[in-house]
Amino acid sequence: MPLPPQHGVKGVYYGGKWLDLEDCYGTFTGVEEECSGCASKSKSSCPRSRSANSPATWDGPKPKDSPKDDDSYHYDVCIVGAGCIGAAIARELSRYQLRVLWLEAADDVSQGATKGNSGIVHAGYDDTPGTNRAKYCWKGNQMFPQLDRELRFGYQTNGSLVLATKEEDRKELQELYERGQKNGVERLELLNQEQVRSMEPYVNKNVIAALYSPDAGNVIPYVSSAYAMQDAKGQNQAWKRPYSMTHSTQLYSTQRIHTTAGIYHCTG
Ligand SMILES: Cc1cc2nc3c(=O)[nH]c(=O)nc-3n(C[C@H](O)[C@H](O)[C@H](O)COP(=O)(O)OP(=O)(O)OC[C@H]3O[C@@H](n4cnc5c(N)ncnc54)[C@H](O)[C@@H]3O)c2cc1C
Repeated sequence: MPLPPQHGVKGVYYGGKWLDLEDCYGTFTGVEEECSGCASKSKSSCPRSRSANSPATWDGPKPKDSPKDDDSYHYDVCIVGAGCIGAAIARELSRYQLRVLWLEAADDVSQGATKGNSGIVHAGYDDTPGTNRAKYCWKGNQMFPQLDRELRFGYQTNGSLVLATKEEDRKELQELYERGQKNGVERLELLNQEQVRSMEPYVNKNVIAALYSPDAGNVIPYVSSAYAMQDAKGQNQAWKRPYSMTHSTQLYSTQRIHTTAGIYHCTG
């Protein structure tokens, strides 16, 4: 069985889909008539004018006060930690005219749980309905293709299969399916043995059924976080590492952020 294509070898994963380098000249150079291989096919999401290194831009209303460049200890917002969450927040905030202090206790981005995780971008069918995870997992999953078109970390929508090998497992597949419906997950399918085998010929012979989600994907979390950080950098963000926040105190309307490198003031 041929191995799946590898990101960066004769092509890239782009917006969740494989894009052969021979087909994608126009996508990355701006030559529209040669833009045959664009995975998105949508002009609005085509990143011809962007590069993986271009900063995020914000086309909404600007806040009234511009940041004051002369005071290196005063900030509007403080982000503590540079895992996938901190990096995503930093990138989002870089769209605004805010002065952001970004602290990381380790020596680089993605040195915590983000570095060690499995990189699965879940579809959202196993989260308990009503929880925040259930509320945001599917929505977040659906944002990844566009995020990848903007940042180009090589998102791959390979889909996921939850496999049943015993008759009693069917009940669990059904439960996951119903949970997925409650969580708003689209395109979920319950597959029989034959359908699973035709999709994955080398699957364990004991498999009798599966729950299939074509929208589950995977990333290299270190890379996606580093690219988000790179995109945010320089937009009035002070990136401090290895600086730990020890505690914070309130002084009138200002939060005082106590760190291993001194005290910062945060007014946001
Ligand atoms: C084994 C494993 C597998 C996983 N697999 C998946 C998966 O496949 N898919 C999925 O979606 N999720 C998975 N997860 C969960 C996912 O990794 C976490 O939800 C996610 O990484 C959390 O990101 P974070 O940015 O909040 O935390 P982290 O990545 O841990 O980042 C927190 C950062 O904050 C820094 N920090 C902490 N305290 C301070 C301080 N006082 N001052 C300054 N900096 C500080 C830390 O050094 C760290 O860099 C997995 C988790 C594990 C452990």
